[in-house]
Amino acid sequence: MKPTIALVGRPNVGKSTLFNRLTRSRDALVADQPGLTRDRHYGHGRVGSKPYLVIDTGGFEPVVDEGILFEMAKQTLQAVDEADAIVFLVDGRTGITPQDKIIANRLRRSNQPVYLVVNKAEGMRSAVATAEFHELALGEPLSISASHGDGVRELMEMVLEHF
Ligand code: GDP
Ligand code: MG
Repeated sequence: MKPTIALVGRPNVGKSTLFNRLTRSRDALVADQPGLTRDRHYGHGRVGSKPYLVIDTGGFEPVVDEGILFEMAKQTLQAVDEADAIVFLVDGRTGITPQDKIIANRLRRSNQPVYLVVNKAEGMRSAVATAEFHELALGEPLSISASHGDGVRELMEMVLEHF
């Protein structure tokens, strides 16, 4: 059976850009405006002989509830439940945000494998791009550039290794 991989992360980290690259489609809406992709999008792709299904999510929409309380979007939670593996994207240019920490807290309790992926790392040394993200305690972060394609194949080979 094809493994399902969910792309998760706060708005604007590059989920839809990665989705497009993984599915070679323009299905997902990519925009400068954070949080524009509202629904889940499904697409098919393959690495070598290994096919996969990938889910693009609209991100974790912040809910302000007396003070600062964030909740994962229901759609995203559903995508996480459906997935066999989770790719958690963060932004190597902006660094860790409070939303990243909330998402990381939730994903640390996930039953599926979680891959912490530092995007927008083109032109950066991997060790520099990933350094601060060790704090999220989700294992060794990988660095990629969804828009340039750097590290994307290596990421997918790692994710698909056990399927
Ligand atoms: P999403 O909200 O997580 O789906 O993010 P998008 O895929 O819509 O991307 C948000 C913004 O980040 C867009 O302006 C993208 O062009 C930009 N972006 C995505 N991937 C990269 C990358 O690898 N490098 C850089 N520099 N920008 C990127
Ligand atoms: Mg999007």
